[in-house]
Amino acid sequence: MSLTFEHVTLGQRVLFGTSAAAANLAAEVARLGAGRVMVIASDFGTKMARTVAADIEVALWHHDVVMHVPIETAEKARTAAAEAGIDLLVCVGGGSTTGLAKAIAMTSRLPIIAVPTTYAGSEATNVWGLTEALRKTTGVDDAVLPVTIIYDAALTLSLPVAMSVASGLNGMAHCIDSMWAPRADPINAALGAEGIRALSHGLPLITENPSGAEGREQALYGAYLAAASFASAGAGLHHKICHVLGGTFNLPHAQTHAVMLPHVTAFNTAAAPEAERRIASALGSATSLTGLATLYKTIDAPRNLRDLGFSEDHIAEAAQLILPQVPASNPRRLGMPELERLLHDALKGSTP
Ligand code: NAD
Repeated sequence: MSLTFEHVTLGQRVLFGTSAAAANLAAEVARLGAGRVMVIASDFGTKMARTVAADIEVALWHHDVVMHVPIETAEKARTAAAEAGIDLLVCVGGGSTTGLAKAIAMTSRLPIIAVPTTYAGSEATNVWGLTEALRKTTGVDDAVLPVTIIYDAALTLSLPVAMSVASGLNGMAHCIDSMWAPRADPINAALGAEGIRALSHGLPLITENPSGAEGREQALYGAYLAAASFASAGAGLHHKICHVLGGTFNLPHAQTHAVMLPHVTAFNTAAAPEAERRIASALGSATSLTGLATLYKTIDAPRNLRDLGFSEDHIAEAAQLILPQVPASNPRRLGMPELERLLHDALKGSTP
């Protein structure tokens, strides 16, 4: 069979080292020749960010971080950066913090160094997200892609186990959805498969020993691969569903991904044998579903949308909003009945 595809690899420096964030950040700031650095970290992340930024001069600290980046929060941060004459943005935190740095870069074109502390993966994508009047919009702009990512597993040790599990499965969802997303190709599938392997190895180690370095490192490495494959392949069915559930019904981001993933995987792999083979093999299991079921049991993953605030009454509206967004690349056709069935199963947490 001939191999024909078009693939874009996004250019970033990735510095990976446990307990090396401060030294790596100082070296990167010097390499980029920045003189006016703005450090963005939520109130919660401030202590961690001060340790990370211990060896650089900080012109401006910014702590006003809100999930899903409301436009008012973005505008305030953009004004603060402009007034302080900032020439480099450094964000230390989860996807919400990285999202705010991206919102500033969108309009200012300032470079970003991202220091992630969850497994969400925003640091490795050129996708921004903003919320205006309760509607979340996303877009693609290479200016929001951080020039450098500094990964330090020590910064994730404080991430509670339940949040680590949900966030890691958010990463796993990037990998699996990449197998059938609109720009799926052999390169992003390879990245995704290695991401599945690393996350399925790391997450059980975290639940077993949350303060151990190995599980945290594997999960962080997997999270990068996951985001790189997602950035390249685009959003598939799974992400379209979760975008509606988070944006319109305000369900928590990472947990919603975790709950939906086995259901979308079961639905799509039935019509995608190559994806099924890759996912099962990466999970080290006979089938993708038994692999996910074993992993979910081991790490006690969230199973139903009801616990996250979704209800029977929301199903028809959610399905209607999702339907027009289903990518043409999806391996299996689905209409309202199939979408409603998927949401119903995820609501109840039935085994797919
Ligand atoms: P988050 O950044 O809101 O963090 C979740 C919670 O964990 C917060 O309360 C935070 O304070 C806390 N936290 C973060 N790091 C911690 C640590 N090391 N120890 C203890 N607590 C810690 O959530 P998230 O799941 O990282 O990111 C979700 C957001 O990122 C959503 O808005 C989502 O849309 C966005 N996102 C964007 C992309 C993209 O490509 N643009 C990709 C993935 C996620």
